[in-house]
Amino acid sequence: MNKTDSQEIIDVHCHCFAGPGQTDLVSSGLARLRQAGVRHMAVMGLVNTGLGVQDIGKLIPEGFDNLGDPLFYEADDLLKFNRESAGMLFPMVDTRCLDGDVPGLLQHYVKLGFRGIKGLYLADDGNDLNVASIPETFGISLQQYQQREWQIFAFAEANDLPVVYHMDASRYCDVMQAILDDFPRLRINFPHFGIGRKAFRKVLDRNDNVYTDIAFMAPHIRNNPESYRDFIGYYPDRVCFGSDALLYQPEIVLEYIELVKSLKMPDELEARVLAGNPRRFLGLGQGV
Ligand SMILES: [Zn+2]
Repeated sequence: MNKTDSQEIIDVHCHCFAGPGQTDLVSSGLARLRQAGVRHMAVMGLVNTGLGVQDIGKLIPEGFDNLGDPLFYEADDLLKFNRESAGMLFPMVDTRCLDGDVPGLLQHYVKLGFRGIKGLYLADDGNDLNVASIPETFGISLQQYQQREWQIFAFAEANDLPVVYHMDASRYCDVMQAILDDFPRLRINFPHFGIGRKAFRKVLDRNDNVYTDIAFMAPHIRNNPESYRDFIGYYPDRVCFGSDALLYQPEIVLEYIELVKSLKMPDELEARVLAGNPRRFLGLGQGV
């Protein structure tokens, strides 16, 4: 058996952006990925229930082509894709549009089949994604917004759910540390190397429960592979495989697998990034 056949891969960071019209595309893509060794993919599903097409559009970064529900209510479609994939997916509820009774809504989505939480820290219009701020979109204060986010973290910690949380360490390092101080048992992935890698190192050094992923980082990694290889080697149990692929884009997941292999890390380290760390972050245990 060659190495590729036996290798297990778990992607902690994909998005849905697909609907019933993509059923065949998604299932053939997942079959291709299964053959390449992909066992699980964490897929973020938005649950917009209140925003109109203009407002929700302002909360979606450019460059992601949504083929699913135009208003981004993705829960039912994502859960259906998961059933059809025989549990290959790991659905995570994207909380950016959550409004109202946060714990009650999260409980509802967990009952439906969601197993983790996705969030973005959009406190102002200076975020790195160039999307609108949540306080502005929902007409709430910064303090009310932070209270909502804290309710999300409290729910995740109490229910042992992993959280993928897009937040720039170089811009919001104090808020990031405040989250970690208040929720010491939370398993949290600040994706894309915490965006500001230098600032994020301090967070990794201080907090054992923090993970990160390589999603969307391909151009940076290709420009400076040694630096990223060193970083991963310095934090061998923190960096997870992730692609930011949409559910109908298996080629992006395959591209990221190749990217990891191109770093030529020691086999044991490569296996940690591709599967060991994702398993621990998602709470999958051994051999699920
Ligand atoms: Zn993403």
